[in-house]
Amino acid sequence: MKIVKHSFDGIIVGAGGAGLRAAIEAAPTMKLAVITKLYPTRSHTGAAQGGMSAALANVEEDNWNWHAFDTVKGSDYLADQPAVDILCKEAIDAVVELEHWGLPFSRLESGKIAQRRFGGHTVKEGAAPAFRACYAADRTGHMILQTLYQKCVSMGVEFFDEFQVLDIKIEDGVCKGVVAYEIATGDLHVFEARAVTFATGGFGKIFKVSSNAHSLTGDGPGMLYQKGIPLEDMEFYQFHPTGIYRLGILLSEAARGEGGILRNKDGERFMERYAPSIKDLAPRDMVSRAIATEISAGNGAGPNNDYVFLDLTHLGEEAIMKKLPDITDFVRTYVKIEPINDPIPVQPTAHYAMGGIPTDVNGRVLSDHKGGVIEGVYAAGEAACVSVHGANRLGTNSLLDIVVFGKRAGQSMVDYVSSTKASPLNESAADDLSNKISGFMEKEHTTEFSVAKIRSELQDSMEENAKIFRSKETLDNQTEILSDLRERYKNVTISDKSKVFNSELLEAIELDYLLDMADTTVASALARKESRGAHSREDYPDRDDTKFMKHSFAFKNGDSVKLEYKDVELGKYEPMERKY
Ligand SMILES: Cc1cc2nc3c(=O)[nH]c(=O)nc-3n(C[C@H](O)[C@H](O)[C@H](O)COP(=O)(O)OP(=O)(O)OC[C@H]3O[C@@H](n4cnc5c(N)ncnc54)[C@H](O)[C@@H]3O)c2cc1C
Repeated sequence: MKIVKHSFDGIIVGAGGAGLRAAIEAAPTMKLAVITKLYPTRSHTGAAQGGMSAALANVEEDNWNWHAFDTVKGSDYLADQPAVDILCKEAIDAVVELEHWGLPFSRLESGKIAQRRFGGHTVKEGAAPAFRACYAADRTGHMILQTLYQKCVSMGVEFFDEFQVLDIKIEDGVCKGVVAYEIATGDLHVFEARAVTFATGGFGKIFKVSSNAHSLTGDGPGMLYQKGIPLEDMEFYQFHPTGIYRLGILLSEAARGEGGILRNKDGERFMERYAPSIKDLAPRDMVSRAIATEISAGNGAGPNNDYVFLDLTHLGEEAIMKKLPDITDFVRTYVKIEPINDPIPVQPTAHYAMGGIPTDVNGRVLSDHKGGVIEGVYAAGEAACVSVHGANRLGTNSLLDIVVFGKRAGQSMVDYVSSTKASPLNESAADDLSNKISGFMEKEHTTEFSVAKIRSELQDSMEENAKIFRSKETLDNQTEILSDLRERYKNVTISDKSKVFNSELLEAIELDYLLDMADTTVASALARKESRGAHSREDYPDRDDTKFMKHSFAFKNGDSVKLEYKDVELGKYEPMERKY
């Protein structure tokens, strides 16, 4: 295999919002490259619709402490409160900075940035829904991604587009660089670098019905996990209440922020029973559970009683077209329904990973549950767990997280690079990967062990056993299925043996990461014998603060998972019963 050698001070893996924001911070002071398996503006950040929260108080009185209160309560008290304070306080400057870089936010009559309501965001610690989400129609993520990418281009940031990082080199606890596969040619590239930030996004593809792009396979968390680094809070995976029925394509919570209502088959606004004060604008974990409960009680619509309706019809054509144009288009295209006149069939869809690579508030990757760090390795964005979202993220807090903590990871790279010297990494660093790829190329293909077959069994079974409601029984069942899939994965084969755009080869390697994400999710969920945020155990329906006010840390232990725990960092908000 051809091996190409590069030398940089810093590498950022991923060109979504988190990676690009880190790059803007790091680029001026070091030789930096951004490596991305997708063309940068195709990153999933570009699919984000509804908004990014900051207590700008453009519509009504607001302050960042109320935003912090909501975030902690939304997290079911599992978020680390000092980190949440940083998120909510720095949100305001983060939005203003994006505005100054040219982001075309929607505006109020006064010319100020418009703000809308979103689930779980309130004024005065729960008094009423807050107008806090800054937005650009329902294309907020697209605008953030374009703005950050343009800024990077104007700064001359060097990009390696359609290069997939498949190995990180860490020696004696110190980062040496990464190895990447050039998708167009099949060549391997060794990137020597003493600081590497992982901003590879989420892993919603462990589930069948998901709002996530095909590329969201947990590469960063998987790569680090395989090197002995733990993954934090993997049992907490968010299901968004309003995915298009069967397809999982997201219909933003902005639809409910603008006044949309969920109804069951009888037309009843059922959220009045589950969250009497803020109703359809309750946090996502509660709304998704309410939908699942309505469906299992026989109140779902359709021939199989397996969906509910999102009703926008009372909002009027003008508001719908002005504020929700993209999702209206999705509904027309994919379900042939006219949302101005008819309610839309929806069901919860796998959406967001609260867990991931553990970091401190400066993006430094933790090597264990006792606070150890790995020199030179950073993580930010959905791949990371700071933890600001705890057991359940509030809508609009991820676009915020990626810019606030992307910037902080970039700053940490700057500090580290300025205080260390380059150390060489030679071509032999590609040997492990080269052998792995040769293994795939040499093995004869059989359909029984195809990537697609193992992956779809993984997605179907996770959907069945580890979704919104879980129990010892379903999780034990899934543990067995995963160990069988893991055995079969050892024999996985590919039919495409070419070097040019060999997506089958890359998907075979990604499947390994997906299995890691599923293993750690299920093992952490089995051990957490309580219900908190997005993790609902039918056999342990209550939150247990005495035993489980803790973050889980999942370590790889051969083919199994070893769990450790770390206390939650509390702050000014005492854990309370979570009522809305
Ligand atoms: C449909 C949808 C709507 C959403 N709406 C909102 C919203 O309104 N508000 C909100 O706050 N949040 C929203 N979210 C969540 C939010 O958009 C994401 O959590 C966030 O954008 C993730 O950003 P990121 O930079 O961490 O990762 P991404 O934007 O996913 O980028 C990941 C990057 O990593 C690269 N990459 C991955 N693996 C590799 C590898 N092995 N080698 C090289 N490169 C690699 C990819 O090429 C890509 O550039 C939404 C999510 C979805 C799916």
